[in-house]
Amino acid sequence: MDILITEELDSPAIDGLARKYSVVRDGTMWREPARLGEALGQARIVFIRNQTRLTGALLASAPLLIGIGRVGVGLDNIDLEAASARGVVVVAPLDANATSVAELTVGLMLALARKIPYADRSVKAGAWDRKSCTGVELAGKTLALCGLGRIGRRVALAAGAMGMRRVVFDPFLKPDSPALIETGARLFADLDSALKAADFVTIHLPLTAQTRHLFNSTRFAAMRRGACFINTSRGGVVDESALLLALRNGHLAGAALDVREIEPPAVREGLEQLDNVILTPHIGAFTHEAQARTFEAVCSDADRLLSGQAAQHFVNFPQPRPINTGGSD
Ligand code: NAD
Repeated sequence: MDILITEELDSPAIDGLARKYSVVRDGTMWREPARLGEALGQARIVFIRNQTRLTGALLASAPLLIGIGRVGVGLDNIDLEAASARGVVVVAPLDANATSVAELTVGLMLALARKIPYADRSVKAGAWDRKSCTGVELAGKTLALCGLGRIGRRVALAAGAMGMRRVVFDPFLKPDSPALIETGARLFADLDSALKAADFVTIHLPLTAQTRHLFNSTRFAAMRRGACFINTSRGGVVDESALLLALRNGHLAGAALDVREIEPPAVREGLEQLDNVILTPHIGAFTHEAQARTFEAVCSDADRLLSGQAAQHFVNFPQPRPINTGGSD
């Protein structure tokens, strides 16, 4: 088997590969690690989105594997160290969907500020109550960005164009970094100080052991009373029960989440019942443009790897390495 696809993934680029290589598509395989392990044992390349968890143990059952195509950006569902130790090229077109995620973030911020989903629901329910739809302007407000990488940077630029002040917490940025110069955002060395300064807070950092539940009751308490919170990064960065409490007790005025701790969410009570909460089903990258760019990049790199050429969108190394050789190619 040349390519194994373990999630619902469809695109003309994959159809093109299927005409040239043997491609096995199974949209539900990610749910069953035993079946996944068995199929991985025969695959040269595997394509995944964000549901398949490629653990070290699973990768150990894939002796023929030369490449992992991550159709998207977050790498938290791949044991990158184990993949690299096994000489497997990990391909992820990191820039392909940043604009789409940034635009969704700005859309959610506007939707929170002007209560657009609430207004829509109320009119459709027969009401014409303009007073309860009264919102706030973004111009002149302060946006705190937690993480100023590919997506955060684009959000900061758009927010600046709308007249917002931007403050940033990103411990990996130096005060003279190009991202700060380009956006004009002000760097804070301490997260809680950045949060205290903000009317809106948006998260754009990776999910790691350090960032899991970074946004907990202490962080929400550090935010201004009446502030709004947006997460389009990874659900695990937020302790949802702490967020629910901060919304229920009125400390936060609203929240918008594109990503959840468990996807799809196991329980539908709590955040789902609040009028000032906007929930979307992890659609940050779901634009025609981002999907086309992502599939094109992953499929062309799979074609390159299968024909012995170097990948272009790799995150570890461009060509497969033999295991246990020290990887000096
Ligand atoms: P990136 O790597 O370009 O930027 C991440 C930034 O976070 C970096 O500047 C890094 O220095 C900073 N950072 C790391 N740890 C930090 C910490 N503890 N505190 C503050 N900052 C920290 O990543 P990106 O492409 O901008 O993606 C950001 C997030 O968006 C990721 O979690 C990614 O998985 C997620 N994402 C979501 C969707 C979606 O569909 N909603 C799509 C693509 C990406």
